[in-house]
Amino acid sequence: MKIAEPGFHEKLSNIPARSWSKAHFSGRAKCDILLNNICEVFNRRLIGARDKPVITCLEFIRVYMTKRIVNVKKIQAKAHGPLTPHAQEVFNKIKEEASQLNVLMVDAVQYQVNSSRSQCVVNVKNKTCTCRKWDLTSMPCKHAVAAINDMARNDIRIGVPEELVDEVYWLSTWKKVYENVINPIPGPENWITSQCPTKLLPPKHHKQVGRPQKKRKKSVGEAEVEAHFDSERKMTWKGNTTKCSNSTAVYVRNAVYVMLLLVMQLMYQTH
Ligand SMILES: [Zn+2]
Repeated sequence: MKIAEPGFHEKLSNIPARSWSKAHFSGRAKCDILLNNICEVFNRRLIGARDKPVITCLEFIRVYMTKRIVNVKKIQAKAHGPLTPHAQEVFNKIKEEASQLNVLMVDAVQYQVNSSRSQCVVNVKNKTCTCRKWDLTSMPCKHAVAAINDMARNDIRIGVPEELVDEVYWLSTWKKVYENVINPIPGPENWITSQCPTKLLPPKHHKQVGRPQKKRKKSVGEAEVEAHFDSERKMTWKGNTTKCSNSTAVYVRNAVYVMLLLVMQLMYQTH
Protein backbone atom coordinates (compact mmCIF):
# COMPACT_ATOMS: atom_id res chain seq x y z
CA MET A 1 0.00 0.00 0.00
CA LYS A 2 2.93 2.30 0.81
CA ILE A 3 4.27 1.89 -2.74
CA ALA A 4 0.97 1.82 -4.64
CA GLU A 5 -0.94 4.59 -2.76
CA PRO A 6 1.40 6.65 -0.53
CA GLY A 7 -1.29 9.25 0.30
CA PHE A 8 -3.79 6.61 1.32
CA HIS A 9 -1.14 4.83 3.41
CA GLU A 10 -0.36 8.05 5.27
CA LYS A 11 -4.06 8.63 6.09
CA LEU A 12 -4.53 5.08 7.34
CA SER A 13 -1.34 5.25 9.43
CA ASN A 14 -3.04 7.82 11.67
CA ILE A 15 -5.83 5.36 12.55
CA PRO A 16 -5.03 2.35 14.80
CA ALA A 17 -4.85 -0.81 12.66
CA ARG A 18 -7.24 -2.63 15.02
CA SER A 19 -10.01 -0.31 13.78
CA TRP A 20 -9.78 -1.12 10.08
CA SER A 21 -7.68 -4.25 9.43
CA LYS A 22 -9.09 -7.73 9.98
CA ALA A 23 -5.54 -8.99 10.58
CA HIS A 24 -5.43 -6.85 13.76
CA PHE A 25 -8.95 -7.52 15.08
CA SER A 26 -8.87 -9.08 18.55
CA GLY A 27 -11.84 -11.43 18.03
CA ARG A 28 -13.55 -10.17 21.18
CA ALA A 29 -16.56 -9.04 19.11
CA LYS A 30 -17.08 -12.56 17.66
CA CYS A 31 -18.13 -10.85 14.44
CA ASP A 32 -16.18 -9.77 11.34
CA ILE A 33 -18.70 -7.21 10.08
CA LEU A 34 -17.11 -3.83 9.31
CA LEU A 35 -20.37 -1.91 8.71
CA ASN A 36 -22.74 -0.27 11.19
CA ASN A 37 -25.84 -1.43 9.32
CA ILE A 38 -27.60 -2.36 12.57
CA CYS A 39 -27.73 1.36 13.49
CA GLU A 40 -28.82 2.23 9.94
CA VAL A 41 -31.70 -0.24 10.09
CA PHE A 42 -32.86 1.02 13.51
CA ASN A 43 -32.58 4.63 12.32
CA ARG A 44 -34.68 3.81 9.26
CA ARG A 45 -37.38 2.29 11.47
CA LEU A 46 -37.52 5.51 13.49
CA ILE A 47 -38.09 7.83 10.50
CA GLY A 48 -41.78 8.23 11.37
CA ALA A 49 -41.07 9.15 15.01
CA ARG A 50 -37.70 10.83 15.40
CA ASP A 51 -39.00 14.38 14.84
CA LYS A 52 -41.89 13.88 17.30
CA PRO A 53 -41.97 14.94 20.99
CA VAL A 54 -40.07 12.64 23.32
CA ILE A 55 -43.11 10.76 24.75
CA THR A 56 -44.54 10.08 21.25
CA CYS A 57 -41.11 8.94 20.05
CA LEU A 58 -40.66 6.58 23.02
CA GLU A 59 -44.18 5.18 22.54
CA PHE A 60 -43.34 4.49 18.87
CA ILE A 61 -40.19 2.61 19.90
CA ARG A 62 -42.08 0.65 22.59
CA VAL A 63 -44.78 -0.50 20.14
CA TYR A 64 -42.15 -1.33 17.49
CA MET A 65 -40.13 -3.41 19.98
CA THR A 66 -43.28 -5.23 21.18
CA LYS A 67 -44.13 -6.21 17.59
CA ARG A 68 -40.52 -7.20 16.87
CA ILE A 69 -40.30 -9.51 19.89
CA VAL A 70 -43.53 -11.27 18.82
CA ASN A 71 -42.25 -11.69 15.23
CA VAL A 72 -38.88 -13.05 16.40
CA LYS A 73 -40.63 -15.54 18.70
CA LYS A 74 -42.68 -16.81 15.72
CA ILE A 75 -39.43 -17.46 13.77
CA GLN A 76 -37.82 -19.11 16.80
CA ALA A 77 -40.80 -21.47 17.18
CA LYS A 78 -40.28 -22.72 13.61
CA ALA A 79 -36.46 -23.14 13.94
CA HIS A 80 -34.95 -26.55 14.67
CA GLY A 81 -31.47 -25.56 15.84
CA PRO A 82 -28.99 -26.16 17.27
CA LEU A 83 -27.92 -22.84 15.69
CA THR A 84 -30.10 -19.86 14.75
CA PRO A 85 -31.57 -20.18 11.22
CA HIS A 86 -29.11 -17.70 9.68
CA ALA A 87 -26.06 -19.10 11.52
CA GLN A 88 -27.12 -22.63 10.50
CA GLU A 89 -27.36 -21.54 6.86
CA VAL A 90 -23.85 -20.01 7.01
CA PHE A 91 -22.42 -23.06 8.79
CA ASN A 92 -24.02 -25.50 6.32
CA LYS A 93 -22.19 -23.67 3.52
CA ILE A 94 -18.91 -23.91 5.47
CA LYS A 95 -19.46 -27.67 5.96
CA GLU A 96 -20.09 -28.06 2.23
CA GLU A 97 -16.82 -26.24 1.40
CA ALA A 98 -14.93 -28.30 4.03
CA SER A 99 -15.68 -31.52 2.15
CA GLN A 100 -13.46 -30.30 -0.72
CA LEU A 101 -10.31 -29.94 1.46
CA ASN A 102 -7.40 -32.29 2.18
CA VAL A 103 -6.36 -32.77 5.82
CA LEU A 104 -2.94 -33.78 7.12
CA MET A 105 -3.03 -34.80 10.77
CA VAL A 106 0.06 -33.78 12.78
CA ASP A 107 -1.18 -34.82 16.23
CA ALA A 108 -4.54 -34.93 18.04
CA VAL A 109 -4.63 -31.12 18.19
CA GLN A 110 -2.83 -29.75 15.11
CA TYR A 111 -3.85 -30.20 11.48
CA GLN A 112 -2.58 -28.90 8.15
CA VAL A 113 -5.47 -28.27 5.77
CA ASN A 114 -4.88 -27.83 2.04
CA SER A 115 -7.09 -26.55 -0.73
CA SER A 116 -6.14 -25.89 -4.36
CA ARG A 117 -5.31 -22.27 -3.46
CA SER A 118 -4.27 -22.18 0.20
CA GLN A 119 -2.74 -24.05 3.09
CA CYS A 120 -3.78 -23.41 6.68
CA VAL A 121 -2.86 -24.69 10.13
CA VAL A 122 -5.71 -25.53 12.51
CA ASN A 123 -5.31 -25.88 16.27
CA VAL A 124 -8.46 -27.52 17.62
CA LYS A 125 -7.55 -27.03 21.27
CA ASN A 126 -6.97 -23.25 20.95
CA LYS A 127 -9.82 -22.91 18.42
CA THR A 128 -7.59 -21.11 15.92
CA CYS A 129 -6.83 -21.28 12.21
CA THR A 130 -4.19 -19.32 10.32
CA CYS A 131 -6.92 -17.92 8.04
CA ARG A 132 -8.14 -16.18 11.29
CA LYS A 133 -11.85 -16.67 10.53
CA TRP A 134 -12.35 -19.00 13.50
CA ASP A 135 -10.58 -16.48 15.77
CA LEU A 136 -12.63 -13.54 14.52
CA THR A 137 -16.12 -15.02 14.24
CA SER A 138 -15.96 -17.82 16.85
CA MET A 139 -17.48 -20.08 14.21
CA PRO A 140 -15.15 -22.81 12.85
CA CYS A 141 -13.91 -21.99 9.34
CA LYS A 142 -13.93 -24.53 6.49
CA HIS A 143 -10.37 -25.65 7.44
CA ALA A 144 -11.41 -26.26 11.04
CA VAL A 145 -14.53 -28.21 10.00
CA ALA A 146 -12.37 -30.34 7.68
CA ALA A 147 -10.04 -31.05 10.64
CA ILE A 148 -13.03 -31.88 12.92
CA ASN A 149 -14.37 -34.30 10.29
CA ASP A 150 -10.92 -35.92 10.08
CA MET A 151 -10.89 -36.30 13.89
CA ALA A 152 -14.25 -38.07 13.72
CA ARG A 153 -12.90 -40.43 11.03
CA ASN A 154 -9.97 -41.28 13.34
CA ASP A 155 -12.29 -41.75 16.35
CA ILE A 156 -10.58 -38.89 18.21
CA ARG A 157 -13.74 -36.93 18.62
CA ILE A 158 -17.34 -38.00 18.06
CA GLY A 159 -19.87 -35.22 17.86
CA VAL A 160 -21.37 -32.70 15.47
CA PRO A 161 -19.15 -29.76 14.34
CA GLU A 162 -21.89 -27.37 15.58
CA GLU A 163 -20.73 -28.10 19.15
CA LEU A 164 -17.58 -26.06 18.46
CA VAL A 165 -19.58 -23.03 17.29
CA ASP A 166 -19.69 -20.32 19.97
CA GLU A 167 -22.88 -20.14 22.05
CA VAL A 168 -23.70 -16.66 20.68
CA TYR A 169 -24.89 -18.42 17.48
CA TRP A 170 -27.01 -20.99 19.31
CA LEU A 171 -30.80 -20.99 19.06
CA SER A 172 -31.04 -21.46 22.83
CA THR A 173 -29.04 -18.21 23.37
CA TRP A 174 -31.25 -16.34 20.92
CA LYS A 175 -34.33 -17.56 22.77
CA LYS A 176 -32.85 -16.43 26.08
CA VAL A 177 -32.32 -12.91 24.65
CA TYR A 178 -35.97 -12.67 23.61
CA GLU A 179 -37.54 -14.44 26.59
CA ASN A 180 -38.70 -11.17 28.18
CA VAL A 181 -41.60 -9.14 26.81
CA ILE A 182 -42.45 -5.46 27.00
CA ASN A 183 -45.59 -5.28 29.13
CA PRO A 184 -48.61 -3.41 27.71
CA ILE A 185 -49.58 -0.12 29.37
CA PRO A 186 -52.86 1.85 29.54
CA GLY A 187 -53.31 5.08 27.55
CA PRO A 188 -52.11 8.59 28.59
CA GLU A 189 -55.57 9.42 30.05
CA ASN A 190 -54.81 6.95 32.87
CA TRP A 191 -51.31 8.18 33.54
CA ILE A 192 -50.58 9.79 36.92
CA THR A 193 -49.70 13.48 36.68
CA SER A 194 -46.05 14.02 37.49
CA GLN A 195 -45.29 15.72 40.82
CA CYS A 196 -41.91 16.81 39.56
CA PRO A 197 -41.72 20.63 40.09
CA THR A 198 -39.33 21.17 37.18
CA LYS A 199 -40.75 23.29 34.38
CA LEU A 200 -39.66 22.41 30.87
CA LEU A 201 -38.26 25.56 29.30
CA PRO A 202 -37.09 26.04 25.72
CA PRO A 203 -33.32 25.77 25.32
CA LYS A 204 -31.25 28.97 25.60
CA HIS A 205 -30.38 30.58 22.31
CA HIS A 206 -26.65 30.65 21.67
CA LYS A 207 -25.12 33.08 19.25
CA GLN A 208 -23.15 31.17 16.66
CA VAL A 209 -19.36 31.55 16.68
CA GLY A 210 -17.88 33.60 13.83
CA ARG A 211 -19.28 36.24 11.52
CA PRO A 212 -22.92 35.57 10.57
CA GLN A 213 -23.41 34.51 7.00
CA LYS A 214 -24.94 37.28 4.91
CA LYS A 215 -25.31 35.61 1.58
CA ARG A 216 -27.75 32.78 1.34
CA LYS A 217 -26.60 29.42 0.06
CA LYS A 218 -27.33 29.02 -3.62
CA SER A 219 -29.06 26.02 -5.06
CA VAL A 220 -27.37 23.75 -7.61
CA GLY A 221 -29.28 25.28 -10.59
CA GLU A 222 -28.38 28.81 -9.56
CA ALA A 223 -24.71 27.95 -9.16
CA GLU A 224 -24.65 26.56 -12.70
CA VAL A 225 -26.14 29.78 -14.12
CA GLU A 226 -23.65 31.86 -12.07
CA ALA A 227 -20.77 30.00 -13.71
CA HIS A 228 -21.66 31.66 -17.05
CA PHE A 229 -21.02 35.18 -15.67
CA ASP A 230 -17.69 36.84 -14.90
CA SER A 231 -16.85 39.14 -11.94
CA GLU A 232 -18.41 42.18 -13.71
CA ARG A 233 -21.72 40.35 -14.21
CA LYS A 234 -21.02 39.98 -17.95
CA MET A 235 -22.00 36.79 -19.67
CA THR A 236 -19.04 34.75 -20.91
CA TRP A 237 -19.16 32.62 -24.03
CA LYS A 238 -16.31 30.36 -25.18
CA GLY A 239 -13.65 32.42 -23.42
CA ASN A 240 -14.82 35.80 -24.87
CA THR A 241 -16.62 38.39 -22.74
CA THR A 242 -19.82 39.71 -24.31
CA LYS A 243 -22.47 42.14 -23.10
CA CYS A 244 -26.05 40.94 -22.96
CA SER A 245 -27.97 42.94 -25.61
CA ASN A 246 -31.25 42.65 -23.72
CA SER A 247 -30.01 44.32 -20.54
CA THR A 248 -32.10 47.15 -19.05
CA ALA A 249 -29.21 49.65 -19.33
CA VAL A 250 -28.95 49.18 -23.10
CA TYR A 251 -32.72 49.47 -23.46
CA VAL A 252 -32.86 52.74 -21.47
CA ARG A 253 -29.89 54.18 -23.40
CA ASN A 254 -31.53 53.42 -26.77
CA ALA A 255 -34.83 54.95 -25.60
CA VAL A 256 -33.01 58.18 -24.58
CA TYR A 257 -31.35 58.39 -28.03
CA VAL A 258 -34.72 58.02 -29.80
CA MET A 259 -36.28 60.70 -27.61
CA LEU A 260 -33.38 63.10 -28.30
CA LEU A 261 -33.71 62.52 -32.07
CA LEU A 262 -37.45 63.25 -31.90
CA VAL A 263 -36.86 66.48 -29.93
CA MET A 264 -34.19 67.62 -32.44
CA GLN A 265 -36.51 66.83 -35.37
CA LEU A 266 -39.35 68.87 -33.78
CA MET A 267 -37.02 71.82 -33.10
CA TYR A 268 -35.77 71.67 -36.71
CA GLN A 269 -39.38 71.68 -38.10
CA THR A 270 -40.49 74.60 -35.88
CA HIS A 271 -37.56 76.81 -37.04
ZN1 LIG B 1 -9.35 -21.40 8.40
